[in-house]
Amino acid sequence: MKILFATANINKSNEIKHLLPEEIEIITLKDIDLKEDIPETSDTIRGNALQKANYIKAHFNIDCFADDTGLEITALNGEPGVYSARYAGFQRSDEDNMTLVLEKLESHTDRSARFKTVIALKLNGTTHEFEGIVNGTILREKRGENGFGYDPIFEPENCGNTFAEMSIDEKNKYSHRARATTKMVTFLTKSLQ
Ligand code: IMP
Repeated sequence: MKILFATANINKSNEIKHLLPEEIEIITLKDIDLKEDIPETSDTIRGNALQKANYIKAHFNIDCFADDTGLEITALNGEPGVYSARYAGFQRSDEDNMTLVLEKLESHTDRSARFKTVIALKLNGTTHEFEGIVNGTILREKRGENGFGYDPIFEPENCGNTFAEMSIDEKNKYSHRARATTKMVTFLTKSLQ
């Protein structure tokens, strides 16, 4: 089975490729030469995942899936949430976003947070949704060089390392995206039988 993952983010597609059995092959937006940004105008993570998947289905009429992720920080009432990519502005800078989070949390002792991913899958004319959540802590400084986004400041619970200190396979043992993807893979594998 070949299916399109509606992302241009190489980090995301690499993470997901590590979780797929060999009978499921993914292509990405680079493979269909889509250069424009897919609209993400919903005020929920789920809404954006559905919007991206619906856009690809409507424009290219192919089976596809899209993910959307937000970092929800308890002491910031769930911020940055659906605005995670552009929290510090439309330059969408990971460094600026992390700096803003660390500044806003400076005086807070509650450092708890979670990542939430929703995957929307369009398969044979039907839409399916899969959710993955990981709870953890926002550190006081960045640690690690791997990954992307807020990885250097997020440490999943029951784990001494940040996501940025992990290999892809280690991150996939804990991550929000891996949890949602594993649910989707189980579903796709069953639908292939
Ligand atoms: P997206 O809309 O799914 O691309 O995610 C929005 C933003 O959340 C990204 O720009 C990143 O800043 C952040 N993000 C998404 N996934 C991850 C992750 O696995 N680790 C760290 N940050 C992430």
